[in-house]
Amino acid sequence: RRAEYAAIRGKPATTKDGLACQLMVNAGLAEDTAQLENSGADGIGLFRTEFQFLVAATLPGRESQYRLYRQVLDAAGDKPVVFRTVDIGGDKALPYLQDEKDESENPAMGWRALRLSLERSALMKAQARALIEAAGGRTLRVMFPMVSEPWEFDEAKQLFEKQIEWAVQAKRPTPAKIEYGCMLEVPSLAEVLDLLLPKLDFLSIGTNDLTQFLFAADRADPRLAQRYDWLSPAILRFLRRVIRQCREAGVPVRICGEMGGRPLEALALVGIGMESFSITPAAVGAIKAMIRSLDAGAARARLEQMLARPPRDFRRALLEWARKQEV
Ligand code: PEP
Ligand code: MG
Repeated sequence: RRAEYAAIRGKPATTKDGLACQLMVNAGLAEDTAQLENSGADGIGLFRTEFQFLVAATLPGRESQYRLYRQVLDAAGDKPVVFRTVDIGGDKALPYLQDEKDESENPAMGWRALRLSLERSALMKAQARALIEAAGGRTLRVMFPMVSEPWEFDEAKQLFEKQIEWAVQAKRPTPAKIEYGCMLEVPSLAEVLDLLLPKLDFLSIGTNDLTQFLFAADRADPRLAQRYDWLSPAILRFLRRVIRQCREAGVPVRICGEMGGRPLEALALVGIGMESFSITPAAVGAIKAMIRSLDAGAARARLEQMLARPPRDFRRALLEWARKQEV
């Protein structure tokens, strides 16, 4: 398989019937940029900025954040990088940030990510400045985690815009362009997505959190891991609706959860209209090989059928179909 993946490294992720897909990677540390090069991916679709915070003994200052972001942008060159503002708090608690240990019973649904960032705005301002300066003269792509309602996006964007104003006045470097996106990983956002889409430059679906919230099933509990399958009508219908809404609004949509890095899941995603994936670097070869062997039109027709009248064992039925198609 390795040789097979190496042989298609420089080739596009285009289906047999000519649908060009985008394959990006998830990253979080400076070292990960080597994976971008090695995998031949189209960019970094999710840069988890909290990794720097999680590995540090003390709160990373603006300067060290700036250095990391610059290094990542330099390494990526012409390829796009999407920086996600910190997703800390909850179970990713930082001893130097929280006054006390987070004792909440459901940390995944707790005071984390954008909820924390909007309240600890000094933290977010420092990060915004670091990103703005690091992207001086280039395009800055930023997205916010755990947005549950549109106003949270509005506030976060406003905070960035204020920091840009400040940078302009202070004659500091500023991005040539800035694109704002949002993660969809809290189901409530889907119900008000039409209100948010006109404001977005892109949407990125985080199926790790989305699945646990949709099924009310802790993603970290191994006893539930086998119970809720990504290849289930509930998730796929949910995603199909979101993808359609984005397409109708002309907003690019991508998946950045682990689901996209599994070949059969990725096949199902293409079948419901997904064309952009940000995945773990190790999966790029396998996903590209799958896409190149797939007829997207046939996959769409198959998924429509299967979602209209779901077979009992969805995964198995899809796998059998994929084998018959020689995907
Ligand atoms: C997700 O929730 O799917 C996601 C990509 O974010 P994280 O895994 O960092 O929570
Ligand atoms: Mg998440």
